[in-house]
Amino acid sequence: MRGRFDIGIIGGGIIGMALARALAKRGAKVAVIDAGATIPAATNAAAGMLAPSFECGGATTQSLQHFSMASLAAWPTFAASLEEETGIEIDYQNNGILGVFYDDIEWSKARKTCENLRQRGSAVDVMTGEEARRIEPALSNKVIGAMHARQDGQVDPRKALIALRAGFAKTKGEAIAGRVVQVSREEGGYILETDQGDHIAASKIVLASGVAAKTALIPGLEPPPIFAVKGDAVALSIPDNLLRKVVRAPGAYLCPKAGRRLVIGASEAPYCEDLTVDQSATDGLVRNGTRAVPALRNVDVTERWAGLRPATPDGAPLLGRDPDGPEDVFLALGHYRNGVLLAPESAEVLAEELIGSGAVRSATMEAFRPDRFRQIQQARQCRV
Ligand SMILES: Cc1cc2nc3c(=O)[nH]c(=O)nc-3n(C[C@H](O)[C@H](O)[C@H](O)COP(=O)(O)OP(=O)(O)OC[C@H]3O[C@@H](n4cnc5c(N)ncnc54)[C@H](O)[C@@H]3O)c2cc1C
Repeated sequence: MRGRFDIGIIGGGIIGMALARALAKRGAKVAVIDAGATIPAATNAAAGMLAPSFECGGATTQSLQHFSMASLAAWPTFAASLEEETGIEIDYQNNGILGVFYDDIEWSKARKTCENLRQRGSAVDVMTGEEARRIEPALSNKVIGAMHARQDGQVDPRKALIALRAGFAKTKGEAIAGRVVQVSREEGGYILETDQGDHIAASKIVLASGVAAKTALIPGLEPPPIFAVKGDAVALSIPDNLLRKVVRAPGAYLCPKAGRRLVIGASEAPYCEDLTVDQSATDGLVRNGTRAVPALRNVDVTERWAGLRPATPDGAPLLGRDPDGPEDVFLALGHYRNGVLLAPESAEVLAEELIGSGAVRSATMEAFRPDRFRQIQQARQCRV
């Protein structure tokens, strides 16, 4: 037996690691088992935008909007404390995101969106192309208008994951490399067996395995309704200070990182699980990026990659216990396009649910309950 833990987390992407951190801070002895060597984490493919003003419009439920804004508000403390604890810089910035438009129709839509966003508390402004170029001089003259979300931001997700792992290494918990291949019930908890031959005992378990969670693993737990949405992205090496903040243009978003690195994302291919980089999709991203920032015409592509976003049918995460599933098994899944943004708040609400004082389920946990799709189906059957 490798060890006995209060909580075993299957999956050490940003969601699993942020949760491990929140649980360890509450005194729990946690094991994180991660198969990153064989199943790449979506976290390492992310661009790291913290962009609720752009990502949570239209059909997004109010619960997800509130949750996203709460998580954005949690990021400054989350980032500062993580950097302080580990000495690792994660390049967190909350200097705003600029959405740019080339035609009147899109810009007038943006002005309406802006009104809605303001009503729900986002700090957003609309501005002319000229005003946008005063903020980001490298923007094309073809940009006729922009929406500036002043509190949105970004982080480097790869660095954030490294820092979370380094911080976790200082707790009484253990990070174990390997893929959990079998879960069995034992008196007072579960035994997790890995493909490396390790056996880990845990009183409670959390499934935070991203897209892989759709395959049955835990006896008595119906496979969660997770599906992959592949995303390709690309990095360029840019001149110093070409851009200062994230720019979202039609067909590409541009995220300037430390070290003169510009990440441009991202394609969307639902149900595609092939991690081969789509050359034409990444070429398209560079083309769309260059349309917004013409100076990119002369810069080198340094990396192309693909990752799998863990999506759900309604685009919102699955958090907490499935009431029809086994006792003491919790889900932290389905963060789709916004797992980096939502990590701090997901970790807090789940840690409270797992070992916190609140016996009452929070409204957030209720909105993201893992059985909600089954509930809808049952309600429909009842009406027939
Ligand atoms: C191209 C792209 C761009 C993105 N851009 C953004 C963005 O700008 N902002 C944002 O907020 N989000 C973004 N996302 C989404 C974000 O990456 C995801 O929502 C987030 O990373 C999900 O985190 P996770 O921890 O749930 O899953 P993952 O990061 O996928 O981690 C799951 C982990 O579980 C492990 N695992 C799986 N099965 C097992 C098993 N049986 N045993 C042990 N371990 C297992 C895997 O190895 C993996 O390490 C983007 C995603 C992509 C692909």
